[in-house]
Amino acid sequence: MLDWSETKPARAQIHPAFAPASTDATADATGLGAIARGAARVSVDEKRMINARADVNQLLPLKYKWAWEKYLAGCNNHWMPTEVSMQADIALWKSRDGLTEDERRMLKRNLGFFAASESLVANNIVLAIYRHLTNPECRQYLLRQAFEEAVHTHTFQYIVESLGLDEGELFNMYREVPSITDKAAWALKHTQSLDDPAFATGTPEADQQFLRDLVAFYVVFEGMWFYTGFAQILSLGRRNKMVGIAEQYQYILRDESLHLNFGIDVINQIKAENPDLWTPAFQDEVRGMLKDAAELEAAYSRDTMPRGLLGLNAGLCEQYMHVIANRRCAQLGLAPVFAEAENPFPWMSESIDLKKEKNFFETRVIEYQNGGALAWD
Ligand code: FE
Ligand code: MN
Repeated sequence: MLDWSETKPARAQIHPAFAPASTDATADATGLGAIARGAARVSVDEKRMINARADVNQLLPLKYKWAWEKYLAGCNNHWMPTEVSMQADIALWKSRDGLTEDERRMLKRNLGFFAASESLVANNIVLAIYRHLTNPECRQYLLRQAFEEAVHTHTFQYIVESLGLDEGELFNMYREVPSITDKAAWALKHTQSLDDPAFATGTPEADQQFLRDLVAFYVVFEGMWFYTGFAQILSLGRRNKMVGIAEQYQYILRDESLHLNFGIDVINQIKAENPDLWTPAFQDEVRGMLKDAAELEAAYSRDTMPRGLLGLNAGLCEQYMHVIANRRCAQLGLAPVFAEAENPFPWMSESIDLKKEKNFFETRVIEYQNGGALAWD
């Protein structure tokens, strides 16, 4: 016989991270709490990025149109890695002198870095960010982004299978290659502190901790580290090498550029709603995070390209990271962390420069919807 006497845990026993942020019965950060029967309807003014009192189960009325627009843009960008032909890549990878040893090393480490990183980013969204971002239109975007991260992880599975790579070697690089481990560990400490069952936003310290995690994953991981990785692979593609992977990376780059810009908007909106969090000391701390991240990336560049190749080398990648770090500072309203430097990869900004982002999306979306291939212009 089933025992019907067992009752659900009382609200007070629920995981602290899921408890209401205030004593107000209508305020429930998760959207999974008791239904506030007959409560007043949600007004736009009550909606907040964090610590909202408005019901998070009501998408409308929209407050943050930028979040909804990014959700729509993400949907329009839909793609699957299996739509990209790998025949040329397979032939080149299997031919004895198709790629140099340096190119193979760079390619494998790059794939190894991304393979685990897509998963780390996805887990951070689902297990750390989602439950503390108390706005339904932002959550709608996060759900779309989470699927895109799954598509990206799928891409690495598809590449491993197509090229017949050692899956254990590739997927373990983030634990076995120190320059990759150091980056993953740096970011993980931020998501781990949010994963603490006792963690809840609502105090200045906790809200700043949430901002640190957003900076670590959206600005550093997706907005800085991925960009050296894109430069490496797109540089191969520009030389007609591994063109299938390069095409997949172009699609990933298009997605990631949206992820980054969503993250920047989220951080800036939280700042606008909670100006007390954005103290001079905290701004310095965030700038320090970007500086540390650029240094970790320089170590990774030296490790993946000890001798330099294809017009790329560790020095140029380090310079590129300084340009990107300063650009991220500007997007967050922070003073630059590095001396102004020239962008060593102007061909990258042809595709991804934020000013050209709109054009970039328009062409690619139309091409995708027509089923055409990406053009290498
Ligand atoms: Fe991704
Ligand atoms: Mn992403």
